[in-house]
Amino acid sequence: MENIESTGWGRTLRSNSLEFQPRSLEELQDFVGTHESPRGVIAHGLRRSYGDSSLNIGGVSVDAAFLSDLTFQQGTGMVTAGAGVSIGTLEKASLARGLFPPVVPGTGLVSIGGAIAADIHGKSHHITGSFSSCVKRIHLLYADGEIRDLFPEGPTANHFWATVGGLGLTGMILEADLQLIEMKQASVVVEETRVNNLDEMLTLLSASDKGFQHTVAWIDLSGDFRGRGVVGKGNYSTQTSAVEKSSPDKSKDGISLPFPNIAGISFINKYTVRAFNEMWFRKPLAKGISSIDSFMHPLDRIQNWNRIYGRRGFLQYQFVVPEGNEDFLAHVLATMKDLGAVSFLGVLKRFGEGSPAPLSFPKPGWTLALDIPPQLGNLEQALNSLDSQLCARDGRIYLVKDARLKPEFVPLMYPRLEEWRTIRNNMDPRGMWQSDQSRRLKLC
Ligand SMILES: Cc1cc2nc3c(=O)[nH]c(=O)nc-3n(C[C@H](O)[C@H](O)[C@H](O)COP(=O)(O)OP(=O)(O)OC[C@H]3O[C@@H](n4cnc5c(N)ncnc54)[C@H](O)[C@@H]3O)c2cc1C
Repeated sequence: MENIESTGWGRTLRSNSLEFQPRSLEELQDFVGTHESPRGVIAHGLRRSYGDSSLNIGGVSVDAAFLSDLTFQQGTGMVTAGAGVSIGTLEKASLARGLFPPVVPGTGLVSIGGAIAADIHGKSHHITGSFSSCVKRIHLLYADGEIRDLFPEGPTANHFWATVGGLGLTGMILEADLQLIEMKQASVVVEETRVNNLDEMLTLLSASDKGFQHTVAWIDLSGDFRGRGVVGKGNYSTQTSAVEKSSPDKSKDGISLPFPNIAGISFINKYTVRAFNEMWFRKPLAKGISSIDSFMHPLDRIQNWNRIYGRRGFLQYQFVVPEGNEDFLAHVLATMKDLGAVSFLGVLKRFGEGSPAPLSFPKPGWTLALDIPPQLGNLEQALNSLDSQLCARDGRIYLVKDARLKPEFVPLMYPRLEEWRTIRNNMDPRGMWQSDQSRRLKLC
């Protein structure tokens, strides 16, 4: 094992840990069953979580990459996927069989283990719910070195739902059975609309819930922050021509941002961001057929875009508030304006019903995700105040995007935390599965 420094996608937090890359399942089982260390072990996938969910300073991080098998069960739309398989790889292999995962995130570079451990959501949440809606079995390695199958219903259901959204703290996911949907075409019929303010954006997103399988809005985080932006809506194409056999290989299909890419230096300032946002707002609107890949994962074509914030990285503040709290969205934008928190990534979306998992993030309402440069004066104070207001409005922040939340807010945002903790402590009485985030937020 090698001692290496790792970061999450936001690059604000760094962590040195022993990196374990097992060569076989037996080697992993032996290690986990006999390992003794106060800092324990955490699994990681592709490290697309933004903060410290997958980091374990002074402990061990286990790379799930070797869990790379994909086995399709013919005629059922079911696939058994290794936890290290990326969503992008799953999409490609599924499309070749006329199938597709019902829930995919904004990047294809998320592992199946990471998707379950965060119970991720996509642009389709108002229709499909979160990723767990397609998970029919989880094959989990427990802290005692034993492997057990967990199902969403029946005697193992409480362990299943504690693992969904459980941030790797119940065990290491080895593989999962996923129910895919039929897909005639590898394309989406897209319609984009420009909106001039937050009210227009909210009205259009609400109205689009009924007719569209996918909805999302890009919001301008520059200028007067009044919520202008572009609302994107899409439905899977139903035309009957053959399914595209493959989508572009993201790793080879880089496009560049209008910022120079010099290691360690940030090019985010109010002038560059304003120019980018103006360009994005005025760009020709999409209408018609788009490839499924570019619609689902637009940022994957921009390689290492997280580096444009420079050495200090960036925070992502993603929260959900129930409907009826639209004034809070406007308040957050006004706060960002006051802070001078210019950025090129702001995304707004509506959530439907949540999943049964105690720590799953989505619940009905609005979710807003904002990328924020971390070095602004008063930022911490302002975000703490927003967190406190969120609690009062029954909102919560997305833990897998978090790098800074205070632990006292967690039980208020996640009222089922204690229930989850009891199940988790029962699954791992030795407290072996740990991360920097679990210690920072006192999750276990
Ligand atoms: C550009 C971008 C777009 C994104 N878009 C979305 C989006 O649209 N919707 C959304 O919900 N999220 C989104 N995310 C967040 C991302 O989906 C989650 O952070 C996801 O958990 C990352 O998966 P990963 O494989 O990188 O996991 P990691 O970052 O490596 O780990 C994340 C968590 O999962 C746990 N974990 C990973 N593998 C396993 C395993 N085998 N067993 C047990 N636990 C494990 C880790 O311990 C950790 O707690 C986005 C992230 C980026 C960078």
